[in-house]
Amino acid sequence: MANYDPSFAREVFQNVDFGEEIKMCMQCGVCAASCPLSTEMDYPPRQVFTLIRAGKREEVLNCNSIMLCTSCYTCKVRCPRKIPVVDVMHGLAHYALKQGFVPRRQPAVFGREFWAQVYKLGRIDEKDLPRRYFFSEGLVAGIKGTLDFMDVGLRMLLHKRMKLLPERKIKGIQSLRKMLDKAERMGKGGAGA
Ligand code: SF4
Ligand code: SF4
Repeated sequence: MANYDPSFAREVFQNVDFGEEIKMCMQCGVCAASCPLSTEMDYPPRQVFTLIRAGKREEVLNCNSIMLCTSCYTCKVRCPRKIPVVDVMHGLAHYALKQGFVPRRQPAVFGREFWAQVYKLGRIDEKDLPRRYFFSEGLVAGIKGTLDFMDVGLRMLLHKRMKLLPERKIKGIQSLRKMLDKAERMGKGGAGA
């Protein structure tokens, strides 16, 4: 068991959204047992909280757990202490990014491209989004990613889940953009924006 070192915990309490909530954690493990991604995570949520208390700053801010959380809310619903685990995980992810850690780099790139397409078209172009994502890593990575997913793309074409022609904008795109603009302002901290 790791030794207790309060320095990082203090940092989390002061700077991470919902960070103080982990003071209530009793390490029952319900969140870890319920999380559908726990087998893929470096540390399940319960262990992330233990590491924070143990002062393991690098391990926590670099771990893929905060990147993989899909906001399914199972942990938040089941926690007997009513800790908003999902919000703490996202708070840690945002804080890691602000501190220059890059555990969310790939999802961040994907999210940025996804957002840009929804803003532009009101929908996703199933050809264009992966292309932009793969080539964001450079030419070689782009070609490799494209080849790796070639069979998926062909099957999507066969099953009419993807069109060869470019997608067109949805009707009412301007209204959607107004909503997205507002969501973006709120995400930057202006809840009343
Ligand atoms: S379910 Fe709640 S109390 Fe239990 S380990 Fe997870 S966060 Fe802590
Ligand atoms: S919200 Fe995130 S941490 Fe919680 S159970 Fe779902 S994936 Fe796991």
